[in-house]
Amino acid sequence: MKRPILDLPDFAPGSVWLVGAGPGDPGLLTILALHALESADIIVYDALVAPAILRLARSGAALEHAGKRGGKPSAQQPDISLRLVALARAGNRVLRLKGGDPFVFGRGGEEGIALARARIPFRIVPGITAAIGGLAYAGIPATHRDTNSAITFITGQASGGALPHEVDWEAVARGTAVLVIYMALKNLDAIARRLIAAGRSPDEPVAIISKATTDEQRVIETTLAAAARDAVAAAIEPPALIAIGPVVRLRRELDWLGGVAAKSLNPAR
Ligand code: SAH
Repeated sequence: MKRPILDLPDFAPGSVWLVGAGPGDPGLLTILALHALESADIIVYDALVAPAILRLARSGAALEHAGKRGGKPSAQQPDISLRLVALARAGNRVLRLKGGDPFVFGRGGEEGIALARARIPFRIVPGITAAIGGLAYAGIPATHRDTNSAITFITGQASGGALPHEVDWEAVARGTAVLVIYMALKNLDAIARRLIAAGRSPDEPVAIISKATTDEQRVIETTLAAAARDAVAAAIEPPALIAIGPVVRLRRELDWLGGVAAKSLNPAR
């Protein structure tokens, strides 16, 4: 069946698109993200962008890695912004491609501000953030009637790697029944202790979702008290998310990937 032609915006030379690539599965890209991949002259991408997504780039597009990963040497943020400005000023269609959503723990705001100040035209293309994609592929509803009417997305790591000090963990513990923590592996023990000290049950269900929506996705179910130990015992690798709360139990019936599809996310590969 022929697809109706979409009226997609023009990717103008000299502009920058800040685009979310989603959590991994190329099928979770937006049509605008695919359009950008097919039009860009240069793609400045993060470590978290899956290789299968980069393979969708227009042949002839230049690929430039600007990734930063906790603990590993990384490009400095002001350098990335300066690079985007310089590439745009040289007349390129610049695609800045980030894992998940550019405005969710993605520093998209900082880069957007640098572009605005340099008077470079830019567009923000949202992506499926890891928490939304990861929970869906783990069979855990983000909200569920009678369980939670709110959810908290939070980072477990400040830019230096320590627990973010501006986070009031006591307030977080009391705030919503369901918490999803990004960048939590390193500080998981400290986070769990804080939450338990603030009144969360040590037996509360926890899911650790690693490499969500990729062929290497792994999900382990544990409890708040045992999460840090179990993550180490299971050799869970980053990137990973921690989901905490009663919705984790629903996975028993909703684990469509492990239960029904069983094998590869993308059988064609
Ligand atoms: N902008 C991104 C988040 C970047 S911060 C987004 O919206 O998703 C990096 C953190 O995101 C990782 O430490 C991890 O907690 C989470 N993350 C990103 N991709 C992931 C994936 N495929 N599986 C599990 N966690 C992921």
